[in-house]
Amino acid sequence: MQREHAVVDALRARLAEQGVRYLFAQFTDIHGAAKGKTIPLDHLGDLFAAGAGFAGPSIWGTALPRHGARSEYYGRGDAATALPLPWLPGHARIVLDGFVDGQPFPLCPRQLLRAQVRRLAERGLVLNAGLEPEFFLLKRDSVGRLHPADAGDRLDKPSYDYKSLTRQQAFVVELSDSLKACGFDVFQIDHEDAAGQYELNYHYADALTAADRHMLFKMAAHSIAESLGYVFSMMPKPFADMPGSGLHFHISLADADGRNLFADAGQSHGLSATGRAFLAGLLQHAPALCALCAPTVNSYKRLVVGESRSGTTWAPAHVSWGDNNRTTLVRAVAGRMEWRLPDSSANPYVALAAVIAAGLDGIDRQLEPPPPIDDDLYELPPDELTRRGATLLPQNLGEAVAALGTDNLLGDALGAEFVAEFLRLKRNEWIEFSRAVHAWETDRYADFF
Ligand code: GLU
Ligand code: MG
Repeated sequence: MQREHAVVDALRARLAEQGVRYLFAQFTDIHGAAKGKTIPLDHLGDLFAAGAGFAGPSIWGTALPRHGARSEYYGRGDAATALPLPWLPGHARIVLDGFVDGQPFPLCPRQLLRAQVRRLAERGLVLNAGLEPEFFLLKRDSVGRLHPADAGDRLDKPSYDYKSLTRQQAFVVELSDSLKACGFDVFQIDHEDAAGQYELNYHYADALTAADRHMLFKMAAHSIAESLGYVFSMMPKPFADMPGSGLHFHISLADADGRNLFADAGQSHGLSATGRAFLAGLLQHAPALCALCAPTVNSYKRLVVGESRSGTTWAPAHVSWGDNNRTTLVRAVAGRMEWRLPDSSANPYVALAAVIAAGLDGIDRQLEPPPPIDDDLYELPPDELTRRGATLLPQNLGEAVAALGTDNLLGDALGAEFVAEFLRLKRNEWIEFSRAVHAWETDRYADFF
């Protein structure tokens, strides 16, 4: 107790010295949205005893009752995450872990990931992950419609465009400088394949840190974009005729000494037996992982093959892997793998927890991946893809949710309580979408027959 007091006092003193007067005590809901409350610095201690209290049922994905001891969701601060926010002077963000009734809450996405990280730690393993956020910078017109923020951004192949990227320097530089001040090793920012679409990359970290950072990235990007009159969008596919936004995970497993256990230069595709087994787990659970890594109705507008108006879509549609192959679900690169399924709407804690659970299943059951495909999948006809075992991923949220509902191995590994609530919400989302009549339908059918 005394030690805890000393830790809190030291943290308060450090933050005060850095000009912090308020904390944004932040957690992440099941949808991957940042939530929390503002707490004056002199109440920092409150975050470390019981924690900050929130009305449980007001938070998506808690399934908590409206009364009684279990109606209260407590967020306890993780002292190691406290950082001043350059874009919000006088404020620091501190990440909360969810507790209910004094116990770690299994429906808190960060606790979900912590549980999988612990399963790795029991085996002496650490998952390192580099998350690559693609996003859109948009502007609302006078009737509320969203368009790429830069009206001059109209190239057929806008990737790496100098003109549009430099027109966004105010955003890019403030975002990059802010994240660097928060300890991110930002190493590149570029224009992607769609008008208004960009990507920012920073150095990988252990899974929990990577998820915390991704949330901080979203918070920073949102605030900075808004201050410039833009809408920062992590919607996976805002425009039907342009590429969507992926959130690729570059992943590898390390041992306690930081040795990469996926790399083996002597083996095919530079992947060790452990790497192959992890990969096989990902591919085997891919249909169910869709629900967790591509969790919205809109996600499935991205996961289709076909031409787009600009650039190329580069999104995976089939269960497959290959050597430095961006048309497959998993791209093997230099002793690590790029998991290309997640999109920008994924909750980073949930998606990383699911990746660990699937990969560990591959390791535990010593699964072997199917043969790699070292061809352009977008060029292969459907029967050839079937012949090579590259089955089609779920093509809509309904199919993905059904796949998760029947994947008992993954469900058990993640925990029945979390999966039941996730399925409940996502089934409703799919039903709601299915009941709506969309413009495409009226355009096509209203006077067709
Ligand atoms: N935007 C593509 C996607 O949705 C990825 C492009 C890339 O490989 O950078 O996955
Ligand atoms: Mg990209």
